[in-house]
Amino acid sequence: MIVICKSSAIESQIKAIEAEIGKHGLQVHRSDGVAHTILGVVGDRSGVDPQSFATMPGVREVLQVSTPFKLASREFHPDDTVVYVGDVKVGGTELAVMAGPCAVEGVEQIETTAQFVSSHGARILRGGAFKPRTSPYSFQGLGEEGLKMMRSAADELNLAVVTEVMTIDQIPLVSKYADLLQVGARNMQNFPLLTELGKANKPIFLKRGLSATIKDWLMSAEYILSSGNAQVILCERGIRTFETATRNTLDLSAVPVVKQLSHLPIIVDPSHGVGDRRYIAAMARAAVAAGADGIMVEVHPDPARALSDGPQSLTFEQFAALINRCRIIGTTLGRRIPKGTDR
Ligand code: PEP
Ligand code: MN
Repeated sequence: MIVICKSSAIESQIKAIEAEIGKHGLQVHRSDGVAHTILGVVGDRSGVDPQSFATMPGVREVLQVSTPFKLASREFHPDDTVVYVGDVKVGGTELAVMAGPCAVEGVEQIETTAQFVSSHGARILRGGAFKPRTSPYSFQGLGEEGLKMMRSAADELNLAVVTEVMTIDQIPLVSKYADLLQVGARNMQNFPLLTELGKANKPIFLKRGLSATIKDWLMSAEYILSSGNAQVILCERGIRTFETATRNTLDLSAVPVVKQLSHLPIIVDPSHGVGDRRYIAAMARAAVAAGADGIMVEVHPDPARALSDGPQSLTFEQFAALINRCRIIGTTLGRRIPKGTDR
């Protein structure tokens, strides 16, 4: 249920409505829009008559939200949400470029990559320190050492950092080094983790699960939002289908569908989406054309020697070419990729 306040509603009226909702043991999530304030009401509403709020001073109307995800829905928050990652705005007119290696492998690898991607307009450095590998025998990441390397490489260039947090007990450590906490595809329905991230003081980057519907994915976002963290960015990274020519099937239709259903920003990761560097640039261009708020791509100084996801890692040259083309497409749609910072 959402309570839409009149545009003329004054603060004391809004506070009184919030208090009345609270008396029924329900949770209120407030969203101050351009036109009016909307109160999202969640919790067990059995025995509560929604119309009892409709007559309160300052209330314009009380509506039932038609989707099972409430706080993630566009009905609750009609304007696009802009999420701050450090000082980078995700979801505004600027297209976010998140780039870097699959995994942090060493100081030189992360520094040279950070320098190159930054010089082409990336403002968020990606890299895994805790890696969710399919095989227990594969490289699992450098842990805290990797986080330190990434943080210092990013700080040199004024970049923000996104990296994965795999377990609840890693949250404080990863939060110390990262500006954006990534939930990997394999953890999208790890509900205890999502609930804890709802209490974290950092924005969350929620990747779509391998076999999750868009509804499942938005319900996972709802876990984070309803636990108190309004800063959620969605990431389409491909889903499992019968097709084997690509690693996953990148569902670009998720971009306009999510934009319709939700106010949350959406980023596309074509690297995990197709798993083959030959196809990544085309899908990145298509993602920008479809209206994504940015892209996440894997880039490595020497992909043949990468310790993880080498086949889908772009060379520096390929990354530069991809950005140049995405920049042109973005411009035609009124979205810009910031100029690179050559140092
Ligand atoms: C990653 O981005 O490093 C990653 C492991 O992606 P995903 O969870 O989408 O497989
Ligand atoms: Mn990877």
